[in-house]
Amino acid sequence: MRRAALTRRTALRAGSAMVRRTGLRRAPAVRSRPRQTGPSQDTKLAAIARDGQCVVGLLCHDHPAPELVPNHRVNRGMGGSSDPAVNQVESIIMVCRLDNGWLEDHPERAYAAGWKVRRGVDPGRVPVRYPDGFRWLLDGRGGRSLADGGSSVVEMALLVAFAAALTLAVGGLLDLVLSAATAGR
Ligand SMILES: [Zn+2]
Repeated sequence: MRRAALTRRTALRAGSAMVRRTGLRRAPAVRSRPRQTGPSQDTKLAAIARDGQCVVGLLCHDHPAPELVPNHRVNRGMGGSSDPAVNQVESIIMVCRLDNGWLEDHPERAYAAGWKVRRGVDPGRVPVRYPDGFRWLLDGRGGRSLADGGSSVVEMALLVAFAAALTLAVGGLLDLVLSAATAGR
């Protein structure tokens, strides 16, 4: 069915100019991030207190006081992670911006040093190499303890002592056997 085209029958009228009667109001700030994806301020402060320096310490050792940023040992992947464990203090190490970039470019070395942890692995069970050369286990209270550095020194000393005692014992036994053989002639 054909319809007649709509035609305007009245002239366009200019209305009265719009006048603003209220002042411009600043709209309330809208949070661009719907959820928190980084560590809490408390966690960050605990990590700073624990580490006190860049944990990686490769590119920044010439810089007296590099700016530190929290590094997630477990990569969050695209769009963050809903797993709250990624933001716990043992999952965060403080690193300088230089080494933070380096970590992303050298994942294998980062995993080997415990600076990064594969997904599904408990970061509290993976020792972290610090610039002091020792490996430390991070706990959930913002503390750290030597993973193997202290005990391996003790174990090595015990091993050396045991080897020395064994050498003496074997030597003494040989002497005994030799003297017995000589006496038997
Ligand atoms: Zn650094």
